[in-house]
Parts: sequence; C-alpha cells; structure tokens
Amino acid sequence: MRPFAAIVLIFTLVIPFLSFGADAGQSQAGLAGYSPRSAQSEREWETKFRAIPDPANLREYMRRLSARPHHVGSPYDKDNAEWILAHFKEWGLDAHIEQFDVLFPTPKIRVLEMVAPTKFTAKLDEPVLSVDPTSNQKPEQLPTYNAYSIDGDVTAPLVFVNYGLPEDYEKLDRLGISVKGAIVIAKYYHSWRGVKPKVAAEHGAIGCLIYSEPKDDGYTVDNVFPAGPMRPADGVQRGSVMDFASVSPGDPLTPGVGATPDAKRLAVKDAKSITKIPVLPISYGDAQPLLAALAGPMAPEEWRGSLPIPYHVGPGPAQVHLKVAFNWDIKPVYDVIAKIPGSIAPDEWIIRGNHHDAWVNGAEDPISAQVALLEEARSLGLLLKQGWRPRRTIVYCAWDGEEPMLLGSTEWVEAHADELRQHAAVYINTDGNDRGVLNMNGSHSLEKFINGVAREIEDPETKLTVWQRAQMNAIAEAQSVEDKKEVRQRGDLRIGALGSGTDFTGFIDHIGVATLDLGYGGEDEQGIYHSIYDDFYWYTHFSDTDFVYGRALSQTVGTSVIRLADAEVLPFDFVNQADTVGRYMKNLQKLLAEKQEQIRETNQELDEGLFKATLDPRRPTVAPPREEVPPHLNFAPMENAVESLNRSAKHYQEALAKKQVNLGDDAVTAKLGDLNRMLIESERRLTNADGLPRRPWYKHLLYAPGVYTGYGVKTLPGVREGIEQKRYAEADQEIVRVAKALEDEAALVEAAAKRLE
Ligand SMILES: [Zn+2]
Repeated sequence: MRPFAAIVLIFTLVIPFLSFGADAGQSQAGLAGYSPRSAQSEREWETKFRAIPDPANLREYMRRLSARPHHVGSPYDKDNAEWILAHFKEWGLDAHIEQFDVLFPTPKIRVLEMVAPTKFTAKLDEPVLSVDPTSNQKPEQLPTYNAYSIDGDVTAPLVFVNYGLPEDYEKLDRLGISVKGAIVIAKYYHSWRGVKPKVAAEHGAIGCLIYSEPKDDGYTVDNVFPAGPMRPADGVQRGSVMDFASVSPGDPLTPGVGATPDAKRLAVKDAKSITKIPVLPISYGDAQPLLAALAGPMAPEEWRGSLPIPYHVGPGPAQVHLKVAFNWDIKPVYDVIAKIPGSIAPDEWIIRGNHHDAWVNGAEDPISAQVALLEEARSLGLLLKQGWRPRRTIVYCAWDGEEPMLLGSTEWVEAHADELRQHAAVYINTDGNDRGVLNMNGSHSLEKFINGVAREIEDPETKLTVWQRAQMNAIAEAQSVEDKKEVRQRGDLRIGALGSGTDFTGFIDHIGVATLDLGYGGEDEQGIYHSIYDDFYWYTHFSDTDFVYGRALSQTVGTSVIRLADAEVLPFDFVNQADTVGRYMKNLQKLLAEKQEQIRETNQELDEGLFKATLDPRRPTVAPPREEVPPHLNFAPMENAVESLNRSAKHYQEALAKKQVNLGDDAVTAKLGDLNRMLIESERRLTNADGLPRRPWYKHLLYAPGVYTGYGVKTLPGVREGIEQKRYAEADQEIVRVAKALEDEAALVEAAAKRLE
C-alpha cells in the first residue's frame, strides 16, 4: 500500500556538467566486498543485466495483472498468482505458491445517513466512467470500506476533528469540545488512517468517518479524474484500519505464528488488532452535506479544506447514523515464491519482494512495481542461461494480502522465522512506482551500498545518474544552508528510516533483517489511491506512461540483488550506521529540551494570566492544563555506545579496504570463515527478544512504526515514544536497552574487523 508519497520535487535548473566530488569516477572504482578480479566480472554481468528490462514488457504485464479487480479472496487474485508462478517457471526459476488462510472481512451492510437537522443518505459508491474501461467491473469490485473496522450501529452528533491526530484533540480541548459519545469525521492523510479511529475511541467517540478532502488530493491540487489525475467528488480511499502498530500486522487470528491450516486461531472477538469503534471511509461528495450541517465554533484556520462551506467543528446539530457489518471470513492468500540457489553460499539469502494483491485493479498500487520485479526475474533467468551463477541464494516473492495489512508477507515471515533468522542477509522491498526521484529508505548499514548502486543507474528524463538527480533534489529540498552544504559534501546521500505500510515490516521489525525499500516518484500528483480509478487507464495517462521509470526500477533493484548476491564479503558498512544513530540520539536530546522549554513557557503564561487576558468572550477557549516539566534523562550509556560503534565501524572499514585486493585468493577466503555470518548477524544485534514496551512483536530497537503515526517511523522508538507519551522512567530504561544493543553491535563489528586482519 505504501504511504502517500509527498516528495516535493523542485527542479529549477539541472546542470549535468557540474562535477560532484563523491560521484566522479565512481563507476570505475572498486566494488566494496569484491576482489579486483571478481569486481570486473561482476560489472560485466550487471551491465548485461541492465540492458535486458524492456518497457514494452512492463506495460504488457500491467495490462494483464490489473485487467480485473484482484483483492484477497477474489478469483482474479488467484489467477494472477498462478500467472506469476507460470512466468517464474517459464523464466527458469524454481517457484511455488505458498498459501495461508487469514481473516479477511468484507462488507455486508454499509449505511450512512444524516437524520437531523435535515435528511441525507450517503451514496457510498464510485461511479462508472465511460472513458475508463475497467471502472465498470462492478460485480467484482469491493465496495468502499475500511477493513478490520468492527461491526457497529450508532447514531450520534457529528464532530469535525481535522486529521484526527492526538494534537487535534488537544485543540478541541482548548475549544471546550468533547467527542465523548459523538461520531467524528476526520480528513485522510497526515497519519496512517487506522490511527484516526484509534485516537477517536481513546477520546470516547463511538464512530469514525474518514473523508478525502479536495484540498489534499482533489480539485485544489489539479483537475479531477478523468480530466486529470486527482480524486473526483465520489472517489473513495479504501484501506485497512487494523491496529497493527500497537499489536502486530498480519492475520489478527494468528499473531506471531504463520496462518497455516493447523495454526491455533483466536476467536474474532478476541483479536486485539480490530478497531474499537465502527469506521467508514467516504468521498467529499458524501462528506460535504454532513460538514455543512455542523455548527459550533469555526474550525481553526489550518483545519479548513476547500469545500465551498464554512468549516465548523460541531458537535451537531448534524446527527449521523452509521451502520456497518462485515462477513468475518477466512480467505486464502497466495504468496508466489521463486528461488535461485546460491552456488557457493546457498545458506545466505538475498530476498526481494513486492505485493500482487490490490484493493481494486491497482495499476499503480502495487502493479507498477510488481511488473518491475517480474522483469528483474525474467532478466535474471536470461543471465542464468548465459552462465551466471550467484554466490548466494536469491529469493523472489510476489506477496498476496498486503493491502488488508501485510498478510502474505507477515505470515510467511512468521512461518519461516527460524530459517530467516539463520539465512536472511538482506530484504529489498518495493510497492508502487511513478516518475521522478529515487526514494531510498532502509537499514543504515546498507546506506553506502545503495548509494553505490544509485550511481550506476541512468535517470530516464535528465540522463544524469539517479544518484545525481537525488542529490540535486536533496539540495533543493534542504531547509538550511548547512543542510545543503552537507548534501553537497557528504559522500553518501542519507537514506530514510523505515516505518511501515508495506511488506518489509516483518523482515526488519520482527526478525531484524537488513532491509531496503525503493521506488521512484514525486513528479506526478495522484488522487486515485485505493479507488476503482487506480487502473491501467489512469496509469497510462497520468503516471510513468512509457514505463521508463519502471525499467529504471528493475535496473536499480536488480543491480542491488545481483551485487549483494555475488559479493565475496557482504557490502555492509557501519560508519554511516554509527553516524545515523548518533544523529537520532542528538535529535532525542533536542526533543526533550524543547518539551521542557515549551512546558515551562505554558506554565509561565498560566501564572501571568495570559489566557484570561487574551480571551475573546464571543469565542471562548479553555486554557491548557498546567504540566510537570519533564525530568532530565541519562543519555550517557547511549553516548558511550555510539562512540564504541563509531570506533569499531571505522576499524572495520579500514580492515576491509586493506583486505579487499586479496579477497579472490582462496586461502584468504578460507580464513574469512564466518565473516559473512557475522555481517548477517549485525542487524539482528539491534533487536531485543522482548520487543518494544507493550508491543513485543516489534523487536528492532532503532526503527519502528509509531503507535500514533502508523506508517510514519519512530527512530529509537522506545526512548522517543517514552518522551512523547510522558513515560520518562521508561524512556530512561529504554536508553539503557538501546545502549546495550549498540555495545553488542560494536563488539560484533570489532570482531569482524579482527577477522579481516
Ligand atoms: Zn501497495
């Protein structure tokens, strides 16, 4: 499903002849983890590989896979899985389908009506458009709904809650408005959708509507579909509202284990990740009459959208009746798994995945990147026929059931957890692809590696390398002169940390597999996400219409896979990892200081009588509560651990550089022994078997989805959420746990460096 991409691409001027130090001559230099001789043959294979992917194939695969709706449990979902399987086999890969049986609710009853002060019944329907040939497949389309909403039948006054984030409820408190016993209406975006009903229920609401505001993905942005790419008045964003971030993703009935036929299953009523209150997504066509019927204070200026109405908060007088009921069925998901056995190190796995299921036709999400995966697989098959033999085992995965909440990938990870802990070296994910800049996110031990790959790929529009284009974009986007300077001078572009929202979650968060998530985008706006209009017609009119960015994605990910699979020493680097963790720590120290400062200021304003003095009696507000100033936390253990990691990371980098020339020598290789094993272990060291506080499924101590952001990442999550949620004693304990993991990591990296000497 992949979070709503919000990359602002500002391209004023591109000067291809400027030389940027770190990039110059890079492609002729050695390859990390390769001896000079093997680097040369590796480059030859990679060059052959990159010449194969063909935009015409990508287009044809997309036409086929998005021709009909293919959500979990639909006939075409299974048909697609079998089609993908047949192609993997045809291309010479050893492939099979792995099935899991998961809880997948579909709607039985959906009613939304305003019962006072006037009557209005919501349409809850996306109309057929005559120019769009797949929009008329009504019998096969899932109705508009939010999966894993609980059944419910509620009537209550309506309250508008902006994006429905915790801070929006603080604003409502200041306006003296409670949502207790109310139905809330929230706008989509600015948090993952499932956070909205969660926070609403925590504040006492009994129902939740989520609507697509035209200011965010409708006519304020551009023309609406089919005249333009944006969401039309009756377009609706489907999507999962499973509370995966505070519990776990995957099948709600089999948390922590694979949903195999003999797995022990919870009763639906005991599943913890189903919402507490009923939820329904609606279009702005259906939302407008409800919002227009609200009175009460005007919504704060930044809450208002672009519908031609005054945005009031309520509560009421609009009274809303919301009734939803679902078929709580067990449905099959079909993961298609293909293997290329490693010739020298078959027990070290490089895994690559993208989901194949969609909410409806899903040309953009996920097929635009699934087709890149398929073209990579075809190209690898051709290399095998020409005699290429990867050193490590390569596993290609076309996941099912991603949209409801990472069902196929999570169940596969849980079912194979022991093997993955043993063998999984790297997981590379994609989920959707468009025109624009290469987006690189992942484990920071792979930051240097993926920067190296990005230097090899040509950007289809500018003919710069995609690395150069990403660097230019990062300079354009940097907020301060210092940040711009850093982008120009640092050898590597910084990659983002991983939150969630797509299939890498089980790999990184549950097992601790070093992970990358990649995709191109940022140039085209889109308002068809999770609607019936995300289809072949839309994609071939408004996105990567000639599939050249699809080819670039195949080239980028395929090159990464081959390079990771063939390296004598896995190309992990810990200098960037140590640097990044150090930045996260400083960022936390700053967060705490700012919080202390802000609470001191509010308390002072309360003492001064500022809130009474500035009160407009016609628009009364409530003063904020007085709060205790947060205590100082002891960051010393983490500061020491970051320094240890820094030292051993530099030591390892130097040791590898010295040894690199001799890597091809058999005697040297034999002495390396379990060096690659140690490198594989490096990401596991950043996990803790007990997991994060109150969510033991999440075991990584550096990265996790936020309990109140969903897809959005929280770095050093135990400490950060401790501070944000005012659990200061817990934050102090979490600092100690993170420090211990970093010391263990430093010791492992140090041992790896010694192995090279
Ligand atoms: Zn997706």
